[in-house]
Amino acid sequence: MAASKDPTFESSTPHRKPGARTLVLATGNPAKVRELNELLDGRGWEVRPLSDFTDDIDIEEYGTTLDENAEIKARFAFETTGLPSLADDTGLEVDALSGRPGVLSARYAGPGAGAEQNRRKLLEELAGVIDPGKRTARFRTVLIYAEPGRNLQIRRFDGVCEGCILTEERGTGGFGYDPLFVPDGHVETFAEMDAALKNRISHRGRALNRFLEEMASR
Ligand code: IMP
Repeated sequence: MAASKDPTFESSTPHRKPGARTLVLATGNPAKVRELNELLDGRGWEVRPLSDFTDDIDIEEYGTTLDENAEIKARFAFETTGLPSLADDTGLEVDALSGRPGVLSARYAGPGAGAEQNRRKLLEELAGVIDPGKRTARFRTVLIYAEPGRNLQIRRFDGVCEGCILTEERGTGGFGYDPLFVPDGHVETFAEMDAALKNRISHRGRALNRFLEEMASR
């Protein structure tokens, strides 16, 4: 493990909330930190990325489920910082592929594969599935929250978004599998949709809302 940074190190996220409790997000992705800071605004929390505390944020995700991987990341963030920590893991489950790529969604087309290669592989694997009703799929996000107590407390939240996989890409927004995924009840892909709408109905948005409800009740 790399040496820990000084926890008082000036965050890449502006400190907008003096006196707020710190919540560490097990990520180096500033977009995820910004999103959660906005959602928690006014609730006495300041979200900081794990990369503020250590250079060693490339956590090996050796779990075989989303739950295991999210817990590995949350525990690592907690053990590194000693602060309340949150981690997420997301997978795309395609029914015609018996739930694949699932936990392997990020590395579907092989180690180091990018989003475009993963989408191409998905289209290839589904090429024989012509009936749109058989191209059903869902995104699933698992969030694990680790907080200090007499013993380490682990809380789990999840969110699911059902939809289907198109036969060709549409839209330029979003990321990952977004240009191929149309959520149920909508005609646009996630990549064509306004980001605020996607965040409201998405797997991650739903999981985060459950987490926020829990935080609000404290
Ligand atoms: P992660 O757990 O956020 O790293 O996501 C795992 C894989 O799922 C990566 O390949 C992401 O690109 C993909 N993914 C996660 N969330 C989304 C989403 O909201 N839309 C499209 N792809 C996603």
